[in-house]
Amino acid sequence: MDDVTTRPFEDDKPHEECGVVGIWGSADAAALTALGLHALQHRGQEAAGIVSMETSGIFHAHKGRGLVGDNFGDAAVIAGLRGRAAVGHNRYATTGETALRNVQPLYADFEFGGLAVAHNGNLTNANTLKRALVRRGCLFQSTTDSEVFVHLIAISLYSTVTDRLIDALKQVQGAYSLIALHNGALIGARDPLGVRPLVIGKLAGGGYVLASETCALDIVGADFVRDVEPGEIVVVDDAGLRSQKPFAGQPSRFCIFEYIYFARPDSIVEGTPVYETRKRIGAELARESGVAADVIVPVPDSGVPAAMGYAAEAGVPYELGIIRNHYVGRTFIEPTDQIRHLGVKLKHSANRAVIEGRRVVLVDDSIVRGTTSRKIVEMVRAAGATEVHMRISSPPTTHSCFYGIDTPERGKLLAAKHDVAEMARIIGADSLAFISLDGLYRALGRPGRDTAQPAYCDACFTGDYAIPLVDQRENAEPPLSLLHAANS
Ligand code: AMP
Repeated sequence: MDDVTTRPFEDDKPHEECGVVGIWGSADAAALTALGLHALQHRGQEAAGIVSMETSGIFHAHKGRGLVGDNFGDAAVIAGLRGRAAVGHNRYATTGETALRNVQPLYADFEFGGLAVAHNGNLTNANTLKRALVRRGCLFQSTTDSEVFVHLIAISLYSTVTDRLIDALKQVQGAYSLIALHNGALIGARDPLGVRPLVIGKLAGGGYVLASETCALDIVGADFVRDVEPGEIVVVDDAGLRSQKPFAGQPSRFCIFEYIYFARPDSIVEGTPVYETRKRIGAELARESGVAADVIVPVPDSGVPAAMGYAAEAGVPYELGIIRNHYVGRTFIEPTDQIRHLGVKLKHSANRAVIEGRRVVLVDDSIVRGTTSRKIVEMVRAAGATEVHMRISSPPTTHSCFYGIDTPERGKLLAAKHDVAEMARIIGADSLAFISLDGLYRALGRPGRDTAQPAYCDACFTGDYAIPLVDQRENAEPPLSLLHAANS
């Protein structure tokens, strides 16, 4: 067991962005799962795990900290993960626990056999449920909120695994794209608002793939079938794929930040390549807040497609004025502010030949704490830019995400404390502009943001939290039904 210090129920907030993959019906299930996880590496770099299952119901697991390649690059590891079905998970947690016990897929033995669960997203009532479950005797092995699913399934009085899972899903609140594997089937589920993504693919040999994004289907040569719908449960077994919709239909609220930053540009979301969407966002940004300039420079890699769209719309040359060193992890992975500063310097350098003597527009996808922008602006000025203008392809990030995107607490968000003019001064730019909320919706093919029924979850920009933040309420009490069960 790793050395850990934990506050089991009071962790300030979960920080989990994750990628999930499930395979059913392939002799190479574990290898394909590892490949899928590799394609989803951008969704989590802290740890990776795969649980496979033989037809006899025997499970095998391998998990470890680090990248997919670090853990599954060895053919012997893959060979040990026998079976025609597997489920895998990439984890990205920036604070709290890096303990192995939190690395998914979670596995547990039940009366019906083994069950492995991989979850992307965050539950907003996990702590409330945990308190109630502990009172009635459940022993938690990890501090990840995903373990709540395991205990709720264990205590469910329904007989089939799918019904037990649905029973569990009806008690949790929050965002989840979930893949579960048991002796009878591979199950995929998306929360009723479909905040996090989950897609279905078909393998040439007849097997199925469930994955966070279509880029994981491409790498294993699977054909994209469709998205799992919000609130839908898909059950895959040797008879094929069946769908259940246990939740009353409600308009979806897919995470808008997946478009802006999180999803891989070559993934297809809602029928459109993310790359194209990002270019459209950049073009809209240029229309809204164009400024006289000699060169448009992306902050790599996240600002690249938006900068291309901006440059094309503005009719100004696009140049790689900042070069990224690809051998350093994402800035956010570094745990302390001090190291985060260092990280930015390690990661980017100015390309003086492109910048010197020019009026530069820098394009990035977001400003969170402001660390990256401040360093980049300073670096570009030091390389001889005559003016430095910052353009951001998202609205100001004013609120924390509680649904699975890692954002710091609100007090650390630059836009929560300062207006745009102050932010420009803080990052040292001659001007700063963010795309408007309506402009962002327009770039996504909508007329603007429908305030009565927004098409996306945009809580990080608006504070409009569509799923109740149960654990955030003071003295949140456990649901009555669980307490009754505990007392009976
Ligand atoms: P900051 O330096 O704190 O302002 O963070 C902004 C930079 O982090 C931008 O370049 C983004 O591309 C990137 N970024 C934004 N959101 C996230 C996230 N949730 N995880 C990792 N990186 C992010």
